[in-house]
Amino acid sequence: MTAKILDGKRLAKRVEREVADRVAAFRKATGIQPTLAAILAGDSPASAVYVRHKQAACERVGIASRLYQPDGRSSLEILQLIDQLNADPAVHGILVQLPLPDAVAKEQVLDAVHPLKDVDGFHPENVGLLAQGRPRYVPCTPAGIVRLLAEYGLEVAGQHVVVVGRSDIVGKPMALLLSQRDGPWGPQYANATVTLCHTRTRNLPDVTRSADILVVAAGQPGAITRDMLKPGAVVVDVGIHRVSGRLIGDVDYDGASLLAGYISPVPGGVGPMTVAMLLENTLRAAELLNRR
Ligand code: NDP
Repeated sequence: MTAKILDGKRLAKRVEREVADRVAAFRKATGIQPTLAAILAGDSPASAVYVRHKQAACERVGIASRLYQPDGRSSLEILQLIDQLNADPAVHGILVQLPLPDAVAKEQVLDAVHPLKDVDGFHPENVGLLAQGRPRYVPCTPAGIVRLLAEYGLEVAGQHVVVVGRSDIVGKPMALLLSQRDGPWGPQYANATVTLCHTRTRNLPDVTRSADILVVAAGQPGAITRDMLKPGAVVVDVGIHRVSGRLIGDVDYDGASLLAGYISPVPGGVGPMTVAMLLENTLRAAELLNRR
């Protein structure tokens, strides 16, 4: 079997066109341009590339973006900046690019973002709303994954979904989103039976082999190999690693694609969908903040 590709690049382009139309309509109706403020602290080259991609995507759909680069030697400057951006009516979304430098108190910084401007969905209020099944902003990567599954008609209701990785930005919200009774893409894209795995999971290959849908966000290149899959499974690879100048994921793509039914490539799978969902969330923030 050769797996079908979950083409996030192509879908993200279509989502961008839809968002661009909605942004134009919103601007016409309100005279307001949705605006994203991106905070890039520290000097990680990878983070700088991600922020550049996000800003370029904003530009393509008519969302304004502003870049702020505090030095990242302490939390104070970032917290002051967030206070200013929270109070600025021209800013609708605030994005704090992760990871933050060690000297910065990550939780304090993420908690400081106004919940209505929290387009990444990391604020405890938004996490709570997601946990209760009434999401305001779904974190961009899990949102992009469900949108991608929906595009291919890969319903998750009743399926066994195994999520490898329990980070606050991918694994946990992914598990929450898929295990609700309903969701932004309808009940067929919720109602899964979800198993959340991590480094203390015993017999990981046995667990992953029982997955109808496997979402891998372990941050370990090659963590998932062909022998860990059920034949025909849907494999979603969130990992991104630059190895010898090439981008690869957490899944051994060449082996896995011989056994899986569907697989998301790296690059061109989850990454572009994450950016597309950020655009949707920023537009939604502008709409929510300007509701009359
Ligand atoms: P983190 O590094 O924060 O967390 C990794 C998680 O995976 C942890 O819960 C860890 O368990 C678990 N884990 C690590 N190794 C194993 C293993 N061998 N077996 C089982 N569980 C394991 O991950 P993130 O969610 O932030 O990122 C994951 C990957 O996704 C990274 O490569 C990142 O670059 C990428 N990423 C890609 C995005 C995209 O848009 N495509 C967006 C965000 C991230 P434990 O908790 O026990 O330590």
